[in-house]
Amino acid sequence: MATADGWTYGGYSYKYVDGNPPDEYRCHICRLVARDPQQVTCCYNIYCKSCLDILKRKGRGFICPTCRSSLEGKYFKDGRVERGIKSLKVYCTNTDSGCQWMGTINDIDAHLETCPKAIIPCEYNTVGCDKGMKREEQEKHNEESITAHLQLTKEQLEVTNDQLELKNEQLQTTNEHLQLTEQQLKVAIKTIQSLKARLQEHENLLTTSTE
Ligand SMILES: [Zn+2]
Ligand SMILES: [Zn+2]
Ligand SMILES: [Zn+2]
Ligand SMILES: [Zn+2]
Repeated sequence: MATADGWTYGGYSYKYVDGNPPDEYRCHICRLVARDPQQVTCCYNIYCKSCLDILKRKGRGFICPTCRSSLEGKYFKDGRVERGIKSLKVYCTNTDSGCQWMGTINDIDAHLETCPKAIIPCEYNTVGCDKGMKREEQEKHNEESITAHLQLTKEQLEVTNDQLELKNEQLQTTNEHLQLTEQQLKVAIKTIQSLKARLQEHENLLTTSTE
């Protein structure tokens, strides 16, 4: 299971090469093959870490959904089950688009990073090309879209340039303000100096008159 914002929760929903995985690998909350499997000490059942986290956050008492015991601090990561789960063989999630890959759950993330059939955004999306395509089609798309990509890059450059000029103007204004402040400071220092000089004169007068 996965949400639109990319946060993954719940178990794995892959297609399994060797048929249904054993029940002992299934999370007793989401019923999928458990992701980061945790074993509870009350009834020894397996749950996904994220399914337990959600249960805990719901705040209606952190209670085992199977046997109703309190779960606070009553579960641990089950390394044996996790090793079994990670070695299950699955098909690539892009089989519908024609990917023939199959491999373990352990390896699928690395495969998806390079899967030729995965739908990816155009590598020029940073300059505004909003096309999506299979990874293997990027090169062809690049060849076909040289002019469009160039145009987009040029526009993006112009925008960046405008922004730079604006920043420059702001910098100049700040500079002028600073210069103004400096002048005021100099005037203030001169005033203080002349005041000090007058003070000294008064003191001199006082000392000579008391002698
Ligand atoms: Zn689960
Ligand atoms: Zn239980
Ligand atoms: Zn694939
Ligand atoms: Zn593009």
